[in-house]
Amino acid sequence: MLRDSILWLAKSDRVKHLAETMPVSSGIVRRYVPGESNADAVTATQELVGTGRRVTLDYLGEDTTDVAQANATTQAYVDLLAGLAAHNLAHGAEVSVKLSAVGQALGSEGDALALTNARTICRAARELGTTVTLDMEDHTTTDRTLETLRTLRVDFPETGAVLQAYLHRTEQDCRDLAYEGSRVRLCKGAYDEPARVAYQERHEVSLSYVRCLKVLMGGAGYPMVASHDPQLVQIAGALASRHGRTPDSYEYQMLYGIRPAEQERLADAGETMRVYVPYGVQWYGYLMRRLAERPSNLTFFARSLLTK
Ligand code: FAD
Repeated sequence: MLRDSILWLAKSDRVKHLAETMPVSSGIVRRYVPGESNADAVTATQELVGTGRRVTLDYLGEDTTDVAQANATTQAYVDLLAGLAAHNLAHGAEVSVKLSAVGQALGSEGDALALTNARTICRAARELGTTVTLDMEDHTTTDRTLETLRTLRVDFPETGAVLQAYLHRTEQDCRDLAYEGSRVRLCKGAYDEPARVAYQERHEVSLSYVRCLKVLMGGAGYPMVASHDPQLVQIAGALASRHGRTPDSYEYQMLYGIRPAEQERLADAGETMRVYVPYGVQWYGYLMRRLAERPSNLTFFARSLLTK
């Protein structure tokens, strides 16, 4: 109930406007978002790579309904990739892209624009020897995102995608994507989805996650285990051993600011551990999804708003 209300609030333009005038340095935002600029993103990457972790960077912004904004976001990714290369970080870092931030939400022309912009980012990443992963948004975009992935992979087969275990369809999507060269990030799913398309109970989502993980770990692709759930992390490790996978044939992923000690423990144990680092001024939607997972943080957020 509270989760639904927070996710509803995530769509409120008034609260969003009020919140985004708050500096990213305010406590609760800073926990999940290291900063607003390219330089902040590079600094966070340096720190994480320095402790043996890898990084995937997300330039925050979603549901863009403006062509100029979609193109500006694309350019921000190209500039970020150049910044990473200038600091010799391209090996340890890749980028995550929301198609709605590069044009997908722009009506009938949206898919074509998102594809063109995603290609530009993939080309820049390829030139620096790194990769792009397409984030997954709400279920109304899943088919279009997977279609864009298929098209992109013709020229950029290293492009990865995210699948969300809470969707009923995902076990089949995992089967379709468990082929050699395919990189799939499996997460639980962060949006408010209806019961006709998504499991509603936490244990149902976890069971689905395990079924999906079995398909991915048993397949020929490169599974990316994106969860902070200790039980799922443990099961992923057991499945990787059962299938004789070495640490370079799958990886763990967690979000910036969540369970950092566990991130370091996995990296120190020789596992490939990648941290998802969001940055930029448009942090509101991202933060609200994190608060929906941890409603106890809501009080801190409300206090930051009231005292700003
Ligand atoms: P949970 O059961 O939610 O959490 C397990 C434990 O982790 C909690 O008990 C707590 O200790 C800790 N924890 C979890 N969330 C928080 C928090 N916000 N603050 C503090 N502690 C917390 N979702 C999408 O829909 N699309 C995407 O493209 C996408 N990309 C992702 C990429 C990565 C690398 C990761 C890690 C997640 C991504 N997500 C995405 C979010 C994901 O779907 C979940 O919403 C999120 O990871 C929480 O689920 P969980 O598996 O960690 O399990």
